[in-house]
Amino acid sequence: MPRAAFELLNDGARARGERTLANPRNAAAGSIRQLDPAVAASRPLAFFAYALGRVEPAAKWLQHTDMLADFRRYGLPVCPEADRATGVDALLAYYQRIGARRDALPYDIDGVVYKVNDIAAQHELGFVSRAPRWAIAHKFPAREEQTVVEAIDVQVGRTGAMTPVARLRPVQVAGVVVTNATLHNEHEVRRKDVRVGDTVVVRRAGDVIPEVVAVVVEQRPDGLVPFEMPTACPECGSLLAREGDEAVLRCTGTGVCPAQRKESIRHFASRRAMDIEGLGDAWIENLVDLGYVQHVADLYALTIDDLLAMKRRADEGVGVVPETVKKGKVASRWAENLIAAIDRSRQTTLPRLLFALGIRDVGESTAKGLARHFGALDRIASASAADLMTAPDVGPVVASRIVAFFTAPHQREVIDLLRARGLHWEEGEPLAAAGPLLGKTVVLTGSLSGLTRDEAKQRLETLGAKVSGSVSAKTSFVVAGTDAGSKLDKALSLAIPVLDEAALLALLAEHGA
Ligand SMILES: [Zn+2]
Repeated sequence: MPRAAFELLNDGARARGERTLANPRNAAAGSIRQLDPAVAASRPLAFFAYALGRVEPAAKWLQHTDMLADFRRYGLPVCPEADRATGVDALLAYYQRIGARRDALPYDIDGVVYKVNDIAAQHELGFVSRAPRWAIAHKFPAREEQTVVEAIDVQVGRTGAMTPVARLRPVQVAGVVVTNATLHNEHEVRRKDVRVGDTVVVRRAGDVIPEVVAVVVEQRPDGLVPFEMPTACPECGSLLAREGDEAVLRCTGTGVCPAQRKESIRHFASRRAMDIEGLGDAWIENLVDLGYVQHVADLYALTIDDLLAMKRRADEGVGVVPETVKKGKVASRWAENLIAAIDRSRQTTLPRLLFALGIRDVGESTAKGLARHFGALDRIASASAADLMTAPDVGPVVASRIVAFFTAPHQREVIDLLRARGLHWEEGEPLAAAGPLLGKTVVLTGSLSGLTRDEAKQRLETLGAKVSGSVSAKTSFVVAGTDAGSKLDKALSLAIPVLDEAALLALLAEHGA
């Protein structure tokens, strides 16, 4: 949202006595999230074309800059600041040049993006999870402000991690009022020596999460005492402990700590996990504090009557009522909707469930990899650390986390309950144990025209093949698209069979993939 358009939008809101928006970034994000497309359409949003989606037949451009030039010819808006630079010094000079003009641009930016210009090289470099290896953001320093620390609280996370949080005298940072800032962990508080009463520099890192950068020591009043971490969990009283040489202290009350339980339910219900719409933070507090829910499986035993009883108690001042739920007759509609949302989440997928369980260090992408590799929850739950490490993205630490999670008796009970209460997901065969290409190691190189590299990889894997990134004597065959480079040379020098795209497609078709 251009700054001028944002100002006009806020002028209008002010004239109508409505709430104004904090900054163009929030205004743009809020506009896109509007449920009513007519409202979204009325917002002064703008865009620059900068990339392609799917193109059939294959796109013709060899260089990213040629593509942008053609976009311009077609009449699409393209960022006039985009430029080509060769070498690190030239990139940094570009970064400095744009940084110097940052405030003069008609829109807000938080940095520049460097991209590899050669499109074949972009394909060759590919992606790690969702992050391209051929593009990188170089952010400008975040906007900083000073304020006073009024208190330091300790928050308990889903895995029991203790995070000290500075409660701040409210201050505007980059257009947003900041009242809390993370201090990350005990080590960080010590290193920065942040004390209650200190004046501190607050930054919104990446212009999003506020953090305390440093103490303004020359403004420290006399008599401030250094911060001490508590020795027991502020929520459940369990002792805190540190694992190995980790910086974070954790509550040892796993399974009994209400703070950990609330966080794990919040994670379980979140959009990318089980996606239970309408289960907000305040209700999670009430469900746990008032004893309706001990763990995630209890969500699936809740009834409309339970929710209405909880709501009545909340109306009477027991627990909290979120602003979005009003008193009286709308309550039954709310309860029905929430029960329906919980019910919808019963039909799920293995990757979602694995992610939702909240196993430490198992994010969405690792969960997907595990699901595909093992095919079934029980196979993952009973796998040894060594077995687990045969899955993509799983190293010794993640493997030990998964083993620890599934050997805790409490977790197995929860999973059994989830099943008993109607959670359902599709399971399949483990990748490595089936398929006509079992035991074959395949390397893909060059660009394919009929399918993407990822599609080719996925189809080969469903046939049992292992797709590797480098050619060695163990490689069974190499698939070479156009512009294949050193991997093809290596394959030829090792006399490894090479398939072209047509041969690959024939092979896939032969096995029904
Ligand atoms: Zn605790």
